[in-house]
Amino acid sequence: MALELYNSMSRAVEPLVPLDPAGKRVSLYVCGPTIYNYGHIGNFRTYVAVDLLRRALKHFGYQVDHVMQFTDVDDKTIRGSREKNLPLKEFTSIYRQAFLEDAKTLNIEMAERTPNATDYIPEMVALIGKLIEKKSAYVSDDGSVYFRIASFPKYGCLCHLDMANLISGARVNQDEYEKEGVGDFVLWKKWVAADGDVGWDSPWGKGRPGWHIECSALSMKHLGEQIDIHGGGTDLRFPHHENEIAQSEAATGLTFVKHWFHVEHLLVDGQKMSKSQGNMYTVRDVLAKGYTGRELRYALLSGAAYAKNLNFTWQGMDDAKTALTRIDEWRKRIKAAVTDGVSNADSFAAAVAFREQIDRAFSHDLNINDALGHLFQLIRETNKTLDAGQLTAAQASEVEAAWIALDSVLGLGDATVIIPAEVQALLDQRAAVRKAKDFAKSDELRKAIETLGWKVKDTAKGQELSPS
Ligand code: AMP
Ligand code: ZN
Repeated sequence: MALELYNSMSRAVEPLVPLDPAGKRVSLYVCGPTIYNYGHIGNFRTYVAVDLLRRALKHFGYQVDHVMQFTDVDDKTIRGSREKNLPLKEFTSIYRQAFLEDAKTLNIEMAERTPNATDYIPEMVALIGKLIEKKSAYVSDDGSVYFRIASFPKYGCLCHLDMANLISGARVNQDEYEKEGVGDFVLWKKWVAADGDVGWDSPWGKGRPGWHIECSALSMKHLGEQIDIHGGGTDLRFPHHENEIAQSEAATGLTFVKHWFHVEHLLVDGQKMSKSQGNMYTVRDVLAKGYTGRELRYALLSGAAYAKNLNFTWQGMDDAKTALTRIDEWRKRIKAAVTDGVSNADSFAAAVAFREQIDRAFSHDLNINDALGHLFQLIRETNKTLDAGQLTAAQASEVEAAWIALDSVLGLGDATVIIPAEVQALLDQRAAVRKAKDFAKSDELRKAIETLGWKVKDTAKGQELSPS
């Protein structure tokens, strides 16, 4: 089945046709976080959606080559490191690490490569040099280097800007600005006192790269001059992605990206997230309220299609918990049926249909709501068949395999059982006495474990614990 994705350049759902002549490899570049603080759950909505894309690509048999950079130099990182009195690298490495930990909490598969921007200054300098040579960029009288947008007639193609009404002629020295303020944008910022000891030598004097150039340089360095899919949150469309297109295409003369993948924003209680509103939560804040990373992942995935705004609420988190409990209980029954059932029989029609339904759902622009709808339908049907004592072991295995196929894309995994330290100590003790063949003591310990609300089963692989 062909995977179709919404392309925010053409504003249409299009089949994915990889650049790779063999049709196998898909290159994916995703703008990574600016590492000056902990990521908020809005940032992670974008990265969870990218993870869904990545897993779906693999599910459909593509070999994904995925790069995501960490922005470790810009106004915010420099300001933060100076406030904390730490060298820039030391300061940003704290938040790089925190991002990787949070991504793990959410079971996000990391990209094949996650370069830090500052490790590629020579590549950025070379690209800027090429743009100057081609007269697409110039050194201004303030000593910084700017991209000349009038040299790139396609400027505005991603956001469908009417340039005739917009070009103001002013230069923009900031990385972020509004459409109304469009102008020649900075590629290399001349060093100023506020930069402290942050700066690199270049043919244009000491300075640092602008934000936009890093993604063009890193994407070309790791994935080549053209890529299949470029992703990020919707706010990056302008000016960041518009500028990436201008820089890359002016340098190579080739179409930079085949397919633009933009994730719409996460709102909290219907509001834009902001520190001043007190509604900006990190992954850690959500865990501190007693939820798991798995529940947050489910809420971020299932609340809305990636191309629609998603409204985060605590009620939504409770609903995620309920949905996962339902899935987990069903999974337990299926697992038991796989081992306990006996007879061989015909295929379980619901499981066979389900495999096709989820492929169809994901192939149509990652339609997660459809996929989950089919999952709950399968749960209802299998539960009914189980209640009637009619699901055979072979059929249960088919259901199990269908779930595994779905979960390779959802990435929910099994519920992780958190074992209290007290129970773990009894388990360890029991393992030791069983080794010494003291079965009377082993039974005593089993009872002690049971009084704490846990069941222990002895299997070929050792003791298996579950809540009773
Ligand atoms: P930043 O660290 O600010 O560069 O953001 C990292 C990623 O998070 C980018 O792809 C942003 O577009 C995305 N992002 C920022 N705010 C939100 C939000 N409220 N909802 C979804 N994605 C967001
Ligand atoms: Zn970028």
